[in-house]
Amino acid sequence: MSAKADDLLFAPLGGVGEIGMNLALYGYGRGRQRRWIAVDFGVLFGDEERLPGIDLIMPDIRFLESERKNLLGIVLTHAHEDHFGALIDLWPRLEVPVYATPFTAALLEAKCAGERGAPKIAVTTVPCAGAITLGPFRVEFVPVAHSIPEAHSLAITTPAGTLVHSGDWRIDPAPVIGPPTDERRFRALGDAGVLALIGDSTNAIAEGVSLSESEVAATIADIVANARGRVAVTTFASNVGRIRAIAAAARAAGRRVVIIGRAMERVIQVARETGHLDETQEFLPADAFARLPREKVVALCTGSQGESRAALARIAQGDHPIVTLSRGDTVIFSSRTIPGNDKAVGAAINGLVTQGVEVITDRDRAVHASGHPRRDELRAMFSWVRPKVFVPVHGEALHLAKHAELARSLGVPEIVTCRDGDLVHLAPGRPGIVDELPHGRLYKDGRLIEEETAKAVVERRRLAYAGCVFVALALGAKGELADDPVLELIGIPEKDSRGADLAGRVSDVVTETFDTLPKARRRDPDAVAEAVRRAVRAFVAAEWGKKPLCAVHVLEV
Ligand SMILES: [Zn+2]
Ligand SMILES: [Zn+2]
Repeated sequence: MSAKADDLLFAPLGGVGEIGMNLALYGYGRGRQRRWIAVDFGVLFGDEERLPGIDLIMPDIRFLESERKNLLGIVLTHAHEDHFGALIDLWPRLEVPVYATPFTAALLEAKCAGERGAPKIAVTTVPCAGAITLGPFRVEFVPVAHSIPEAHSLAITTPAGTLVHSGDWRIDPAPVIGPPTDERRFRALGDAGVLALIGDSTNAIAEGVSLSESEVAATIADIVANARGRVAVTTFASNVGRIRAIAAAARAAGRRVVIIGRAMERVIQVARETGHLDETQEFLPADAFARLPREKVVALCTGSQGESRAALARIAQGDHPIVTLSRGDTVIFSSRTIPGNDKAVGAAINGLVTQGVEVITDRDRAVHASGHPRRDELRAMFSWVRPKVFVPVHGEALHLAKHAELARSLGVPEIVTCRDGDLVHLAPGRPGIVDELPHGRLYKDGRLIEEETAKAVVERRRLAYAGCVFVALALGAKGELADDPVLELIGIPEKDSRGADLAGRVSDVVTETFDTLPKARRRDPDAVAEAVRRAVRAFVAAEWGKKPLCAVHVLEV
C-alpha cells in the first residue's frame, strides 16, 4: 500500500442502531480533495407516545450541508420510505443530483406531485442493473429480490477497492415480479475481490430462509378460492409483487379487484407505467365495490399497520364511505405488524371480528413473507462476496450484534460495528472508527422541520401527561393585586381527593404566594411570575402527584 493512498471512508448518518432513516455516506480522498456520495435518504416513523404529533423522523444532515460542494450525488437503492422518504423535506438543503432506477424515480415523482409545495427534485434515471460514475466512485446497481420492485444492492468501486452495499435484499428463487437476486454477479464481484460488505441486519436473528413470495401467492390464492363472501386484503402499498399475486388469486376465483386507498392507487399507477403490472387484470376504482356481488369482489386496501386514517381502520370502525363488511366476509392481513403499531392493528382486527368478519394474519397462514434475509441467506452472501471487512447496518443493536457474530463465525477477517455518526476508515490499512461526525435526528412536526432538541415536542409530551395551569395576574401601580387572579386548568382533574374545587385552591395559592413576596419584588413582574409558577406547580404536584406545566402572565394596569 503506497503512503499516498487515499482514504476510503464509510459514515452512516442514519439506520445503524435503528430500523429506519437509512442514510449512508461513502467518502474517498484526503483533505480538500475528499469527495462523498450518499446512499439512500430515508425516514423513521414517529412514536406517538414518546413524540406526540411527530409523524416522521429524519437524519440530521448538518454534515452534508457543510460538505455540499463535495457531495457528488445521492444514490437510491429502492423506493421504501425508510430509504427515500426524507428527500422531499431535505433535498432542498442540498440540491445535489439524485440517481435511481425507473420505478423508484417514478414513485418519487408521483409522491412529489401529490404533496403541496414539494420541490422539483433532479432525478437521473439509471437502468436496472446499470452503472454510473460519480467522481472516484463507480456505482453498479446489482438486482436483488426484496418487497418492492427494482431493489438493488450497490457495488461501489474506488481506486482503494470495491464495496458491496447490500441495501435491503433477500434470496427468493421465485419472486412474483422482477429478477431473483443476482447470485452470479455477487460471485463475480467476490472473485474479483471485495474489500468490504455493508449489510442488511433486519432478520439477522432469524435462522433459516424467508418464505418465498410464490408460496405466499399460493396461500392467498387458496384462501380467495375458498372464500364465500367478500374478501379484503391489506398489504404494504409498495409491495407490487404481492398486489400482483392478489390480482392473480382474484382472477382465478372469478373476482374483480377494487382499489381502496390513495397510496395503493398511486403505486399501482406507477407500477403500470414502469411495466411491473403487465398482463395483470385491470383494477377497478373504489366505487365499483358497491356494484359487485359479494362473491365477485376482492378489495385491495391500505392500512395494514392499523393507521387510523387509512382504509382498513375505517372499514373496521364501520365508517368507510364505500366499503362495508359483514358476517361471512374475509380479511387477509398480508403484512407484518411493525413494532409500535401492535395496538392499532389489534384495534382494527377486533373491530373486524366484532362485525363477524373472519380475519387471517401471518400467524394463521403463510400470507406474508419478509423482504429481508434470514441467517442462511446472510451466509450465502458472505460466501459469494467473501469480504475482507464487514460492517453490519440496517438494524437495532441486537440485529447488528447478531450479524457481526455470524460474520465472525464465518471467518470474515475484520468486523467493524459502528453507530450513526461514526466515521469508519475502510482502507488503506486497518479498518476502524476514526472520528464522529455531526449527527442526530430531525422531526417533521406538521409542515415544519424541528431540531431534536426543540422545546415543542418535549412540552407536548408533558402537556399530554400532566396538563397546564394558566394564570393571569393584574398588578396595580403600587404593586398590589388589582383584581382576583384569573385561572384556567387544562388537562387537570377538577376536584382534589376530598372533593374540593382544585382551581379554587390553586387561586388561593396564587394570592398567598403574592402576599408573602417582599414589597420590592411585587413590583417586578418577572419575579412575581416565577414565584407564582413555582408555587402553583409544587401545590398541584403535592395534591395530584403530577407536576403540570404552568404559564403565568403578569399585566401592569
Ligand atoms: Zn429498509
Ligand atoms: Zn426496503
